[in-house]
Amino acid sequence: MRYEDIPWKMAWATDAFVLHKKPLDRTVVDIDDMLEKYARAHSQMARKNLLADLEKSCIKLKTTSKTPNPALNALLDVVKRKSQFMGLVRKYDNVVCVSYSVTTGGFDTKGRVEYQGMLDDQNDMLERVRKMKIAVNQARVFVPVPQLHDPRTLKIFMAPEFYFRGRYGAYTPDVVSQIMPLLRGGNDGTAKPQFDDWLLVFGTAISAAVDVKHYCFTCNSAKDVSFRPDPNSVGKTIAECARGAGHNVQEGIYGATVDNVALIQKGKTDHLVAKEFRSGIDFRDRGAGAYVRIIGHGKLGARHDSGPSKFQDERMGGGVFNINGITFGMEVCLDHHKDKLKDASNLQILLIPSAGMSIEKLKTIMGGVTFNVDGLRADGKVLIRGGGGPTAGLNGFSQALVGIPGNIKVFDSVPIPYV
Ligand SMILES: [Zn+2]
Repeated sequence: MRYEDIPWKMAWATDAFVLHKKPLDRTVVDIDDMLEKYARAHSQMARKNLLADLEKSCIKLKTTSKTPNPALNALLDVVKRKSQFMGLVRKYDNVVCVSYSVTTGGFDTKGRVEYQGMLDDQNDMLERVRKMKIAVNQARVFVPVPQLHDPRTLKIFMAPEFYFRGRYGAYTPDVVSQIMPLLRGGNDGTAKPQFDDWLLVFGTAISAAVDVKHYCFTCNSAKDVSFRPDPNSVGKTIAECARGAGHNVQEGIYGATVDNVALIQKGKTDHLVAKEFRSGIDFRDRGAGAYVRIIGHGKLGARHDSGPSKFQDERMGGGVFNINGITFGMEVCLDHHKDKLKDASNLQILLIPSAGMSIEKLKTIMGGVTFNVDGLRADGKVLIRGGGGPTAGLNGFSQALVGIPGNIKVFDSVPIPYV
């Protein structure tokens, strides 16, 4: 038998009824679950992630089943064809991690984020794009020539969390949306074929869509605020509180949707991973300026802003992504501490861009690579999960960047483990 496309769970369960006799094998349960998710996957990346795991589960079930099953063979066959079609073909044997070691976060005596950037968000972003391009182009020069030119060696360049954030704690979404196209463009852009074998992680960008509203700071409520015509200015209104003429009514940010998103490029493909667990420092407090005054949300708005998990299964659009047959995981800073990817299996490479985090736990398969670049330490670190033995830290050498702050740290080449 042969499937032309990934079968629906019900069709597969009927074809493979022998495998569905109780008690159900754990791997059969996993396969059923993935087929159901595949049918409702909303993104190409979610389908890729599921295909990569489906293949591994099918192979596992094949080796553990006592008798060959035609439906299982057919499923594995269509998964392989589909994977190939979607570019999930193994392309790299080795990986070289390259850290853009630069400070992105510091704290003042009150524990607030210190920031040295431009006052104007647009210019601030342009300046950071310029520096990022310098860093990534110089990084190429520091990679040893044999690895640099080896098409079977993946180079991973990573900058820390918070690389792109504005003077007031966050850029507006329109500023954030320009970053990737600007990085790609021009003679020094990352769209060049020289970066084809590079996975580029440009740190994270903070974006805030704000909701401005009039609010009574005496009542600590917006409920009784109303507007009356301004006698001194035709067509304008004055906001006042119905509960008292002398109440302090001001305009402020009522709420904000704050996103902290990692910017990832591989060749022509972009991928974004949003940080899920926000810490209080992600969005600067009102001491930073008028921009960040989130009414009714305490001093640090972001602390109250994280909602429940968007994805029950990280493969469906969270921190797991598949590129060139490699299963990557990404945990942005606090996500790592909160163990966001604790249920993700088959991770070969785990990436942790951070500002105040170090590697706490290895979640990859044996031999897998965990790569952290931290913006407080301004340093990178790579750990390899050892097979029973001690976890090995990789050696790296640092070179100062010319013309901009920071270093490039290039780590030793290591083999990528495949299941
Ligand atoms: Zn009032």
